Amino acid sequence: MLKCNKSCNLLAQISNSISYITMSKIFIHDSYSREKREFNPITPGFVGMYVCGPTVYNDVHLGNCRTFVSFDMIFRYLQHKGFKVRYVRNITDVGHLVGDVDTDAESKIEMRARLEQKEPMEIVQKYTNGFHAVMRQLNTLSPSIEPTATGHLLEQIEMVREILKNGYAYEVNGSVYFDTQKLLQTHDVYGKLSGKQQDELLEESRDNLKNQSEKRHPSDFAIWVKASPNHLMRWNTEWSMGYPGWHLECSAMSTKYLGKTFDIHGGGMDLQFPHHENEIAQNIGACGCTPANYWIHANMMLLNGKKMSKSDGNNIMPAELFSGNNTFFEKAFSPMAFRFLLLQTHYRSTLNLTNDGLVAAELAYTRMMKAYQTLEKLSTPTTETGSEDEEILTILKNADEAMADDFNTAIALSHLFGLVNKINAFANNQLDIKNLSQSALETLKKELHSFLFDIFGLYDETQTQGAGGDSQLIEQLMGLTLQLRQDARARKDFAASDVIRDTLAGMGIQIKDAKTGATWEFKKD
Ligand code: ZN
Repeated sequence: MLKCNKSCNLLAQISNSISYITMSKIFIHDSYSREKREFNPITPGFVGMYVCGPTVYNDVHLGNCRTFVSFDMIFRYLQHKGFKVRYVRNITDVGHLVGDVDTDAESKIEMRARLEQKEPMEIVQKYTNGFHAVMRQLNTLSPSIEPTATGHLLEQIEMVREILKNGYAYEVNGSVYFDTQKLLQTHDVYGKLSGKQQDELLEESRDNLKNQSEKRHPSDFAIWVKASPNHLMRWNTEWSMGYPGWHLECSAMSTKYLGKTFDIHGGGMDLQFPHHENEIAQNIGACGCTPANYWIHANMMLLNGKKMSKSDGNNIMPAELFSGNNTFFEKAFSPMAFRFLLLQTHYRSTLNLTNDGLVAAELAYTRMMKAYQTLEKLSTPTTETGSEDEEILTILKNADEAMADDFNTAIALSHLFGLVNKINAFANNQLDIKNLSQSALETLKKELHSFLFDIFGLYDETQTQGAGGDSQLIEQLMGLTLQLRQDARARKDFAASDVIRDTLAGMGIQIKDAKTGATWEFKKD
């Protein structure tokens, strides 16, 4: 896909002598201290960032996409500011417990494997591939390291040993539990991240273990679980044939790749408790230190004002949004229109996904891309300083300052729309291009390119596909294909109609015939 035409690639290589942006300090809202603090990495020039990745037992949902796009933007911005970033995002591929306390210990991945009649690792591979495909559609960069839980059992087992050795865990009948009461005696941290009081921690600490009675205290949580005989994903240790508790993998893998204490730990807001709270507990239990200096949490996404939930039907998957195959929205919306919508809201604010919001985001995205195309064609004869220079450079500076202020893409974008107005005014001769110097024009081209494509991670769908993007093009092509098949059937050329159907099936597209005409959908295999 064309992400940028030749001239903008060329521009990206032009080093501009004007450095208008002072290296603004970056401020991050740290969820742990609940303060916006100046960002100072442990090693100047380098950033270690760990983000909790997906559990690969079903398709990634749109709320997760918001989290991953938010951290992709942060990864991109920090790199743009010159940091060398090691971005670690894990894949949770060890099954974890489901159901109520008295259900059999069957993991989510194993349950899905049984439903789909597959090996657990087939499920893991299938949904990992699906997750990566959606991340590519949304134009997110790959993390520097994407470790899997099953690939780091030795590190997790070693961490359980350390926590036991330090007296922060105890073993009962082959399972090992973290001793939260011991932690409360030695460190005043448990509950600090989530802001929960002791009674709330108790209330929410049920971790679905059938052997709740084994715990010394209800808020204790398992770091090693003895597996039942029919449990497939299990490993042998001195405690039992079992598997690690869910929270353990992130403590073990962040420590392995980023050190005992690193710069940024991120994830969705819903992970604050119990997952991140318990990660902090484990790290203190193992090494006496808290893992991250800055905790960043992306807020949740609502669908038409209500929490997304599979069980009550208020839920939409990425493929359904991109294909238009859903009952919530009037048409398909492209991955870039959705990405633009995400950028229009600060990552810490709740985002409400609505038809009107998507329509507005699509229009705004298209307007921005068209303005960038217009800008590329602009030239000016003026080499001297122009009367418009200062204002344009100030807008760029304001946009950068918004990004440096806790990655506020919403405010940065509102500044950049000020540039869109200017660009269109120059193109329409409402403003005289002679009032803009060559150097200011080159800076504008270079910096707007950086914001849109490098930092915001957009690409220009309008260049290659018309304003509607991928999904609209697919809809049009499928409409044509179904019409050709219908024509073949009308003239009783069933061989041709079967070829069309079978070829589409091979591409993962299923045709359904109905009295009202044929429809199509991506196969759910
Ligand atoms: Zn995690």
